[in-house]
Amino acid sequence: MPFFEKNNIRYFQFQDFSGAVTHAVFTRRGGVSPAPWSSLNVGGNVGDSPANLRENRIRAFTALGRDPESVFDLWQVHGTRAVFAREPRPPDSHEDQGDLIFTDNPKITLYMRFADCTPLLFADTHLGVVGIAHAGWQGTVSGVATAAIKAMCEHYGSRPENIQAAIGPSIGVDHYEVGEEVIQQVCENFGEEAESLLPRFGERRHFDMWAANRLQLERAGVTQVESANICTACHLEDWFSHRAEKGKTGRFAAIIALKG
Ligand SMILES: [Zn+2]
Repeated sequence: MPFFEKNNIRYFQFQDFSGAVTHAVFTRRGGVSPAPWSSLNVGGNVGDSPANLRENRIRAFTALGRDPESVFDLWQVHGTRAVFAREPRPPDSHEDQGDLIFTDNPKITLYMRFADCTPLLFADTHLGVVGIAHAGWQGTVSGVATAAIKAMCEHYGSRPENIQAAIGPSIGVDHYEVGEEVIQQVCENFGEEAESLLPRFGERRHFDMWAANRLQLERAGVTQVESANICTACHLEDWFSHRAEKGKTGRFAAIIALKG
């Protein structure tokens, strides 16, 4: 598996991703937070202290050679709003709301937080654009992946065939039993493909977020799609899982940036 370790920080990288970008999905290992956030927690609304969050972010960024002050992040709200970052977010400013961030500025490190929701990473090295998106079930049925490709094409002039996309560690179909509300929205938004995205496990229906996001990317014309195929709930030694830890957990970080 493409895991790496530096300064006790263990992180995952996609194998096919361009060397022109710096990216990582950080595991929960190597941070300073105590249980139940042990230890590299970056989630601000889970009860952990701001000092721990700051130290964890500094450790993660430093391990990848990125300036901790280069961060641009959002208040993630399970929507499809895209933000185009021009400068790092000033430390004392409020986070804007949204679930997709893009930039063409190598001085910015895009940064998001996850615990079962799907991290989506994007790079167009022809034009020098990177992006990151947060796709939980709500974002997935609302079309975050579709919105990401649209945003890159409309805002920067990307061509879908030049975009590399990656689907990060998140809750896998094996662990992701869903109820009526999710089933109904998957059916409404995916039509005849919904059946294959909602496989039966005995009496129960599960949702395959990796396949749903891949489907959207391929429909948008993206041919380079890599998936980590790592289930957060299966590997609690590496990942925070909201479902498997019944909400008492932290958030792990994913970053992407253009090399300067
Ligand atoms: Zn699993």
